[in-house]
Amino acid sequence: MRVMKFGGTSVQNDEAIRRVISIINNRKAKAVIVVSAFATITNKLVEIINCLKKNNYISVKAHLDYIFTKHLDVASKLGLGSDVDNLLNEKRDEIERLTYALNILGEVSPKSTDTILSFGEILSSKIIYHAFLNEGFKIKYVDARDIIRTDANFTEANVIFDTTNELIINNCKDDFENYQLILTAGFIASDENKSTTTLGRGGSDYSAALIASALDAERLEIWTDVNGIMTCDPRIIPQAKLVKMLSYTEASELAYFGAKVLHPKTIYPAVEKQIPVYVLNTFNPENNGSEIINLHGNKKILKAIAFRRGVSVINIQSNKMLGAYGFLSKVFEIFRLNETSVDLITTSEVSISLTIDDNSKLNKIINDLREFATIILLENQAIICIVGEGIKNTSGISARFFQALSDINISMVSIGASEVNISIALAERDLDKSVRLLHKEFFENYIDEEYFSSI
Ligand code: ADP
Ligand code: ASP
Ligand code: MG
Repeated sequence: MRVMKFGGTSVQNDEAIRRVISIINNRKAKAVIVVSAFATITNKLVEIINCLKKNNYISVKAHLDYIFTKHLDVASKLGLGSDVDNLLNEKRDEIERLTYALNILGEVSPKSTDTILSFGEILSSKIIYHAFLNEGFKIKYVDARDIIRTDANFTEANVIFDTTNELIINNCKDDFENYQLILTAGFIASDENKSTTTLGRGGSDYSAALIASALDAERLEIWTDVNGIMTCDPRIIPQAKLVKMLSYTEASELAYFGAKVLHPKTIYPAVEKQIPVYVLNTFNPENNGSEIINLHGNKKILKAIAFRRGVSVINIQSNKMLGAYGFLSKVFEIFRLNETSVDLITTSEVSISLTIDDNSKLNKIINDLREFATIILLENQAIICIVGEGIKNTSGISARFFQALSDINISMVSIGASEVNISIALAERDLDKSVRLLHKEFFENYIDEEYFSSI
């Protein structure tokens, strides 16, 4: 049994959905299929939430018109019939009643935000389930909110693993005796009061990994709109190469530092059960894609460059206190109390530099730190990170890295504790140029064909 997750572009219209059905049909395997909302729909739902906060109900209606016209059109092109139309119209009534009430209140709580966001995956999963049924597949629909249990940290809920594993096993395991396929929605879950929660943007990959882990799947397949994990985001580097094989650590570092192709939490459940993860292209299913496994062997290479925009660098100086017992814990306590996670850290005799990418509590954090330290804040920064097991045991990589960026002003350097990444912070305006320079240095003159391919 395998778990196959199809992202937003992979299910964006009737043609894409037919493609998904043919991919499954060609494989004949038993599978749990996890689907995202149709491409752009979650963003539209976010816009609806923003309009509600501004009491702009006219725009809310316009967005709802767009969303439901789109889904009804896809359902009709797939020939799904009136039952599905009725179901979609019921869902429209539901979200209309909810948004109307929220508009009167003029307030959208994180809990209501998640209920609104969940419509994207609910609509797509229902349509795709009926499309499979229509084609004669033995398929069961499972509501994701019945199998993924989280805390009530709406919009970025934390999974409660024991309960989730139990729910997934109870709701899915035995069904493969009667069904070839189980279909569920990614991204959405519920808390112990049965309120809808979500796992954070891009979270469908994580849903799929949780299901693969609970069911001991033989493989987890992430089907998307590129051939696999590339040496860099192909939107910035069109000549990026496909990385054929990565270790779990390399893939999680890349995801963590901004490679959107995988949600950062995806790898953890797979590693625990040593489930191989494949990143594959729905629009080019014959390509072997990227394989993420426990990789041994040639470790003398770099795999990819990731980057993240919208970062702040905070430099914390305290001549008296830095070496003193308790100083670091005092600093990190402030980040804990402000529920903000730190990404890169470096320390020197007199200062600590660190980066954060969630700026929502930045002012409060700076004020708290200023009570006992001198703070220099750099905003509009970015992080670039090169990743590869080769960093551990190949001399000269750092020298080439810094040589390639010799004209760029670097605000901070960090060699990852996992020893598989070198990361820097720099001004966001220098990001694109620096990424191009690094890609040229490491991936454009020579590539090892065992690990990379040009297609
Ligand atoms: P999905 O909707 O299938 O989940 P996403 O948009 O979340 O797809 O992720 C796929 C996108 O990730 C690609 O279209 C690509 O632009 C981007 N991306 C960023 N970094 C990388 C990388 N290193 N390799 C491949 N794709 C990347
Ligand atoms: N639809 C959600 C999003 O756009 C989740 C996902 O696609 O993984 O963030
Ligand atoms: Mg994604």
